[in-house]
Order: sequence, then structure tokens, then C-alpha cells
Amino acid sequence: MAIAWTETQYQRLIELNAGEEICRRSFASPAERDQAFLRLEKELRAAAREQLERLRREHRRPLLCRLSSRLTEALTGCGFVEVSTPLLLAKGLLEKMSITADHPLYKQIYWVERGRCLRPMLAPNLYYLLTNLLRLWEHPVRIFEIGSCFRKESQGAHHLGEFTMLNLVEMGLPMEQRQERLARYAALVMEAAGLEDYRLVAKGSEVYGETIDIVAEGVELGSAAMGPHPLDENWGITVPWVGIGFGLERMIQVAQKSGSISSCGRSLSYLDGVRLNI
Ligand code: ATP
Ligand code: MG
Repeated sequence: MAIAWTETQYQRLIELNAGEEICRRSFASPAERDQAFLRLEKELRAAAREQLERLRREHRRPLLCRLSSRLTEALTGCGFVEVSTPLLLAKGLLEKMSITADHPLYKQIYWVERGRCLRPMLAPNLYYLLTNLLRLWEHPVRIFEIGSCFRKESQGAHHLGEFTMLNLVEMGLPMEQRQERLARYAALVMEAAGLEDYRLVAKGSEVYGETIDIVAEGVELGSAAMGPHPLDENWGITVPWVGIGFGLERMIQVAQKSGSISSCGRSLSYLDGVRLNI
């Protein structure tokens, strides 16, 4: 009978970024398995220490920060203006996104005090800014934000309670150019993230009705939507638009083929994807 890793061994191997092939290995006996584990764990710890050394000597910024910079450069180079909006969100702005008590996302909100929560998405803030910018700037108006969002999740392999979203929006473009722009911006972001192999997949969304997901390795990395949209009325917006929200940690997880999304995000246990209890 083929013997697999114990649950504890498996978890440790995932922590140490062992890769799929190692995690799937099987053995003839428990003794053989345990011996292999000790050897592998030692090798992986040595590799992790080396990676930490490289971080310190060479690039000096974790991948999450470097990806954020690469995306900022790519988007500003393409005419997008970066914005920086509050993490604390008023309940009224959530309601304008139709996120009220009967909405599935409502249960995932972290309330800070009555009437204020940690933002679960960037869209309401961007909508708010755009109501002014559309008046002040020549169309089309292109903006983006990269920043933390918070959702109570049942912590799957692709979900964090605190994650980093990139949301880009272009408003006031010609109707017939929306598809082409969405595809172009998705390609721009995927290239900056080093992900060439991805697909655009049409899907239903709880907030936007219909969305187009950006999917790689079977994982949703982003969701795109288009307007005019029924939600626009809440903001007095009437022009056509396209927007995409991406998760940076998911992009890193897929690009790095990492077994755990926790290693890709803000963490006290990991630094630049390296588990620190080594
Ligand atoms: P899912 O269905 O996978 O939970 P979603 O459709 O609810 O995701 P969106 O609201 O479309 O997520 O958010 C845009 C992007 O933000 C997602 O495509 C994903 O990359 C990222 N994202 C959303 N929730 C999380 C999370 N809890 N942890 C990490 N990334 C997330
Ligand atoms: Mg989505």
C-alpha cells in the first residue's frame, strides 16, 4: 500500500513551498516516509534561508510590493491616474453598491463601529471620486487604486481576510470600444504580473449582474464589469465605462505556483513568501 505524508508533514511542506510533485509523493513504509520528510525539510529550510538572504542582499522588497510598483508603472504609463482613498467606508457607500443586509457580501463585512466598516472593495470610493472627476476632466477619465480590502472569509486556498486589490476604471469612453479596452487592460495587468496564460470568462456577479472574469490555472484573478449599469444611477453616472478588480495575492500565488495564499500576502509568519520559523 502506498503511504502518503501525515497531515502535519503535509502542512509543513506546504509552508515551506515544497511544490506539487513533492506534496503528492508516496512511500512504501512509514519509516521511509519519515526519513524522506526529515531530509526534505532540511533542504527546504536551507533553500528558504537562502531566499531570505537574497531578499536582503538584492531586491529588498517583497514581491507584493514589487508587483504593486510594476502595476503602478504600467498603468500610469497607459494614462491612468493613481488615487488613494480611505480604508474606512461609510455604510451609505456600501448601500449605493446594493450591499445591504440581504446581500451575500454583507455577512463578510468587518464593522468597525456603527455605520463604518473596513472596505471590502475599492469600487464605491472610485465611483465617488469619479462623480467629481468626470465633471472636472476631459473624457475618458482613467483612474486606479491599489490597496487593502477586507472580507470575512472561510479561509480557503485562495481567500485571505485582508488582501490587496487593484481596481482600474475608465469612464466616458465610446460604447463600442469597451470590449477591446477591457481585453487590453487585462493583458497589461497580466503582463506586469508575469502571467501569460489566462482566459476571459463571462460569469454572473452578485454586485454587477454580469462580469467577465480573468482566470489563470482555474483561479479567478480578477473580475471585470461594464457600464452603463443599473448601479450607476446611485452616483448620477451616465457615461459608458469599463472596470476591473484584481487580487494581487492571487496573482502572486498563481505566478509562483504557491500552495498557500497566506505566504503571498501581508503576514507576520512569512516574509516575501518565506516562512520564518525555519
Ligand atoms: P471569489 O468568488 O473567488 O471569492 P469574488 O468574485 O468575490 O472572488 P471580487 O469581488 O470579484 O471577488 O474581487 C476581485 C478580485 O479580488 C478577485 O478576482 C480576487 O482576485 C480578489 N479577491 C476577492 N476576495 C479575495 C480574498 N478574500 N482574498 C484574496 N483575494 C480576493
Ligand atoms: Mg469576482
